[in-house]
Amino acid sequence: MDRVESLANQIFEDYKDYGVDRKEIVEKLRKLLIEFRVPENEAVRTIRNYIIREYGAPATVRRERITKIEEIKEPNKWVTVKAKVIQLWESSSPSIAQVGLIGDETGYIRFLVWTKAKKQPVDEGKSYIFRNVVVDDYGGVLRLNVTKISEIEEIEEGVKVKPPEELSEDVEVVGALVAIQQNSGLIQRCSVEGCNRVIKMGKCPEHGKTKAKDDLRIKGVLDDGYRTYEVIINEEGVESLTGINLEKAKKIAEETLDRGAVLTELKKMLLGKYLRVVGTATPRYLIAKHVEFFRPDIRKEIEKVKALLEEV
Ligand SMILES: [Zn+2]
Repeated sequence: MDRVESLANQIFEDYKDYGVDRKEIVEKLRKLLIEFRVPENEAVRTIRNYIIREYGAPATVRRERITKIEEIKEPNKWVTVKAKVIQLWESSSPSIAQVGLIGDETGYIRFLVWTKAKKQPVDEGKSYIFRNVVVDDYGGVLRLNVTKISEIEEIEEGVKVKPPEELSEDVEVVGALVAIQQNSGLIQRCSVEGCNRVIKMGKCPEHGKTKAKDDLRIKGVLDDGYRTYEVIINEEGVESLTGINLEKAKKIAEETLDRGAVLTELKKMLLGKYLRVVGTATPRYLIAKHVEFFRPDIRKEIEKVKALLEEV
């Protein structure tokens, strides 16, 4: 792209909503700059005045570069995004007023509104322009931070969002397992092909009374200090953490004549423990693909101390 085109593009971006023709801008600008050797800033001003006159555009336009969510790839950048609030989560820290997930047609990103920012709360399902928000990296996950100098403007137009099925990126969360829900442990699922729903009170919500098959899972709440996640850990994950697989769980239930004994056992082993979970974050759940107890890397710390001692 040559200089004329890039100048023309800037003008076009500012006035494209007023029906201006990009080609016309390029031609006029080229004429002024090359044929008449008008200085650059004067040529640009001439074109702007022409557009204001001919197209009834306002004399001042707000320059705004909207960043698409998929373009957000690194921390410490200030951006403005136009997005819909997909979901709000429960904040687990008094310094955070709101936390959740926003999305546009290109992707999703977590966002948080700091209490100190003193912003009007946003609503789920509504669309906003989030101006001057800063990207940070929290445990490998990028987030948008709404601070005091940010601006949130509600907009009428509903922002289209990418369907959640297309969400496939794995996230990593380190947090404490602060709750394990009652429908965890040795559960029963509907055996109708393709259903797999959890059976409650002997019934599948879709198929009523059906043949049940056993399964082992944990549905719990993981708190990373900033927000809580509803985490789902499947049999494989439960086994890697506790050594209890489906067979063992059934045995525990048989021996105690109590299916609930499995849940009691799992709670004893896992509640309050720090876990590192890698998995898929859907708007509602964090579905664990890999889970382990979290231990800070002590070896690295020891190496650091050793190095320090050697220097001394
Ligand atoms: Zn069913």
